[in-house]
Amino acid sequence: MTQTARRREIPKAYDPGSVEQGIYDHWMREGYFTPEIDRSVTPFVMIMPPPNVTGELHMGHALTIAIEDMVVRWHRMRGEPTLFLPGTDHAGIATQVVVEKMLAADGITRHDVGRDRFVEHVWAWVDQYGDRIQNQVKRLGASCDWTRNRFTLDDGPSSAVRTTFVNLYKKGLIYRGERMTNWCPRCRTALSDLEVKHQEEDSSLYYIRYAREDGGGSITVATTRPETLLGDTGVAVNPDDGRYTDLISKNVILPVLKRAIPVVGDDSVDSEFGTGALKVTPGHNQVDFEISQRHGLAVVNVINPDGTMNENAGPYEGQERSECRTTIVEQLENEGLIERVEPHTLSIGHCDRCNEVVEPTVSIQWWMRMEALAEPARDAVTNGTIEIVPERFSKVYFNWMDNIRDWCLSRQLWWGHRIPVWYCDDCDEVNVEMERPRNCTGCGSTELTRDPDVLDTWFSSALWTHSTLGWPQQGDDLDYFYPTSVMETGYDILFFWVAKMIMMGIENTGKAPFHTVYLHGLVLDPEGVKMSKSKGNVTDPLGLIDLYGSDALRFALTTGNSPGNNMRLNESKLEASRNFANKLWNAARFVMSNLGDAAGLDRWYRPEKPSHRHDRWILSRLNTVAAQVHRFMEEYQFGEAQRVIHDFLWSEYCDWYIEMAKIRLRDPETEGPSPLPVLAYVLERVLRLLHPFMPFVTEELWQIMKEYLPEEPQRPEALIVAPYPEADESMIDRDAETEIAAVIELTRAARNVRAEFRVSPSQPIPVRVYAAPELIRVYDQEAAVIQSNAGVRILSTGPTGDVESSVDEVAQVLAQGTLVLSLSGLVDMGEEAERLGGELADLDAYRAKLSSRLQDESFLSRAPEEVVDKERQRLEATEERRTRVEDILSRLAG
Ligand SMILES: [Zn+2]
Ligand SMILES: [Zn+2]
Repeated sequence: MTQTARRREIPKAYDPGSVEQGIYDHWMREGYFTPEIDRSVTPFVMIMPPPNVTGELHMGHALTIAIEDMVVRWHRMRGEPTLFLPGTDHAGIATQVVVEKMLAADGITRHDVGRDRFVEHVWAWVDQYGDRIQNQVKRLGASCDWTRNRFTLDDGPSSAVRTTFVNLYKKGLIYRGERMTNWCPRCRTALSDLEVKHQEEDSSLYYIRYAREDGGGSITVATTRPETLLGDTGVAVNPDDGRYTDLISKNVILPVLKRAIPVVGDDSVDSEFGTGALKVTPGHNQVDFEISQRHGLAVVNVINPDGTMNENAGPYEGQERSECRTTIVEQLENEGLIERVEPHTLSIGHCDRCNEVVEPTVSIQWWMRMEALAEPARDAVTNGTIEIVPERFSKVYFNWMDNIRDWCLSRQLWWGHRIPVWYCDDCDEVNVEMERPRNCTGCGSTELTRDPDVLDTWFSSALWTHSTLGWPQQGDDLDYFYPTSVMETGYDILFFWVAKMIMMGIENTGKAPFHTVYLHGLVLDPEGVKMSKSKGNVTDPLGLIDLYGSDALRFALTTGNSPGNNMRLNESKLEASRNFANKLWNAARFVMSNLGDAAGLDRWYRPEKPSHRHDRWILSRLNTVAAQVHRFMEEYQFGEAQRVIHDFLWSEYCDWYIEMAKIRLRDPETEGPSPLPVLAYVLERVLRLLHPFMPFVTEELWQIMKEYLPEEPQRPEALIVAPYPEADESMIDRDAETEIAAVIELTRAARNVRAEFRVSPSQPIPVRVYAAPELIRVYDQEAAVIQSNAGVRILSTGPTGDVESSVDEVAQVLAQGTLVLSLSGLVDMGEEAERLGGELADLDAYRAKLSSRLQDESFLSRAPEEVVDKERQRLEATEERRTRVEDILSRLAG
């Protein structure tokens, strides 16, 4: 049987849509994503940030997966047992709202169906749609181990949640208490700060008079929320504010309710804001709550969980919050108590899920004491156990840790991890256990009622690094894969998630959960604006995969990527990435079409001491690049690693080496040994280097290519598990690199002159080359390459001292020599000078227009920064072109 019989024909063009699914299925079938536990080797472990089960793939996910899968593939190819563990988050409030909306379409609320039936509805929803987001993650090529897929509500993670709650409660780190929280009146639950989105809105500042009890006039307070005055239990002033010193400890009369409330002196009051007197509403404002705690003021809640005024609101009971604001302002105006109203802009918190205005409310919730947990987590970063990349985010981390507040754990939702607490109906005992106790530990009663609340979604997320590996059970996975290696996520959840994982990892296992935190930035639209549904500038990654292919989307997202920095995604990046995949495809087609049944390929995989300069050069460059890639990957400079591979493949391999090789292939007799083994070898190694960045096209080409080449000993079955190229110092050849660099420089110089003077591509330009003798030898030997690639005819070569040039000739200075091009008969110098003169005049006019624009104060103050930047870049480009044209003109004249 001949080799040719087994070969697949390589298609003319790369069609990602017809290839990607098949390759992914192949990887899955062969089990490449599942690592083998090998106790002699340290594994590489990355736990994927679990997307919401209700989620749809957005650009943030795509960037996360592109970076994580690239890192994971790199480690796998380096022979480390590599685990990339996927999962989904039950996303308490997000999921509950989705199902509530579904029910609302039939005119029912969750209260109509009741808790048990509602939770059944949510599970049905999860069963039907829960793997949608995971199928989308697969389309990006994520090589995660689906056999270890976890859902936050699975038995394992749920048991980890209860274990942690019970342990921390018994240690006194979890307690129940009355505190201020963000409250959504529509969802009727407490919210975390992350679930509240702030928006600047136009509002009013009302100046309201509170009469002194002793009849000696009044004090005016300024407030944006007059309806909450019904819950006022004091007025606070700064004790250093001379205007009010005599009022401290006296009483004033609360309007409407006519209750006497005290004036207190508190350092936190800003004398500059409003009148310097602050109404204190401890039930609905965090700052006021803190003041009330310092001065023993009562906490009065005036708003019901559904956003209506409650019985403490007196005549306003039953009114909606916003309605109450209007009616109470009317009453105050009628009573002459409103001094004035000023327009005022303020930041208003909205529920992230339903957009309702959030009501800060004091309520009884479960809390976690954070200070003791934060200390070892802070130390882990201080002492280098955990490194945060980029380093500048360590400051943000420390700042949070140093100002940490207790964490509100309970949510008044039905979907999530129900709090493992049972209250006794017959005594005051609070039973906190893993499972429902048979009897109350206090009195033995069997009448127990479970706490109705569920835990904040971030509680289970905080345990994710170890709950996914089986904790609290001590199994093989936990033993081998924990601590994990790198936690990769967006910088925006450093505190909400990463910091909590560090705290809980150390608390539960005694070990920091990972050694590195890698933070990526946001994906912005082409104008540099954050993508959001309300702005309508969201791009759908799945649509882009359909259009450009998964590889191109991933490559575009990681182009220029550096830790912690935001990136703009635009069409030109996507097109450039697709073109790059096509360039690779075409190069591979060229190589394979030449391989045929060529002789001498037996040991293509080990090109030992090649004699030909071109071969020595490309192998030297390949190994230099492999060394650079290794360094950049180790330093988390992924964008740089990608760039050197891109530049090597595009320019050195495709544009130079293949072009040079064509000459040898055309004329094998006179031009030396066949370039085919090296062409094949370098291409195969580039496929390996590039695989983490473009997994699909590289695997497809590799699978086709292996049918064209004699089998390499220990050849892997697939590229995904092929060893990643390492630099071989012995292949580095400084002489070949310098010599070919000189050839390339000369060729580029000739091409530039051809372009500038518009010499027809079919016309060879006669040239003379002057350089040092050792370089002259190289130019002589490489004459065929230079003539073919530069489109020149070398008339003579000679030493540097002899440079001569005349009219109709252009001299180009090289790093170590001079190139003289004779344009006589090829270019009409007079006509060319005239054309360039015209261009110079146009450039002058354009430059004047741009610089006057950039000096125009009104333009500079009104135009967005990006627009001003663009104008500056235009001016810079114009200056550059102008200098160039002047330079050419002076040479034409000389
Ligand atoms: Zn809400
Ligand atoms: Zn009891």
